[in-house]
Amino acid sequence: MTPTIAKIIWSLFVIAWWALRYPHERKAKKAGVVASKRDAQELTLLGISLSGLGIIPAIYVANKFGGFGERSFIPALAWIGLVLALGALWLFHRTHKQLGRNWSVSLELRDKHELIVAGVYRYVRHPMYSAFFLWAVAQALLLPNWIAGFSGLVGFGILFFFRVGREEQLMIEAFGDQYRHYMARTARVLPFIY
Ligand code: SAH
Repeated sequence: MTPTIAKIIWSLFVIAWWALRYPHERKAKKAGVVASKRDAQELTLLGISLSGLGIIPAIYVANKFGGFGERSFIPALAWIGLVLALGALWLFHRTHKQLGRNWSVSLELRDKHELIVAGVYRYVRHPMYSAFFLWAVAQALLLPNWIAGFSGLVGFGILFFFRVGREEQLMIEAFGDQYRHYMARTARVLPFIY
């Protein structure tokens, strides 16, 4: 593995992720929204996350950093990054399939919203966010630059910690004890741990 190959892998991953998401985005748009917490805070968080996982690393991959923040490239770490990125793609695919029309990029309740508790949702209640964290770690391992590597973890981490409590509140408002019981038996993103 070389830095150039690692950058190509990062770029292919972004394309694959978008190709996985696009059809679900179209489907979900057809289902009406009955409640929404898509406010200024949400939009800011989405922007921060997009910068960290997309824009900043893309600028680096296009060789526009001029050597700033460079670290030495460690092939073994990049290989681990590749495995984690493949795991993230698999998990993205599963979560999108299982959430189906209940998915949205922000905090929204769809018309006839269904609470999903099966499949990967049996083990953690935010498996799509687990997939984003896996991707963010993969990015840090693949890209040999402190800023472009870790911007994903910082950017998505900010979105996650500011959003997750509000999302759970929204689910409690919609599903009451059903969601409280689901919370009691699941972890947030890392099975049995957190
Ligand atoms: N946090 C989840 C879903 C992310 S998509 C995950 O990481 O997999 C965000 C939308 O999913 C929110 O608007 C919320 O209404 C919805 N949602 C979250 N958990 C859900 C669940 N278990 N079943 C159905 N919809 C859910």
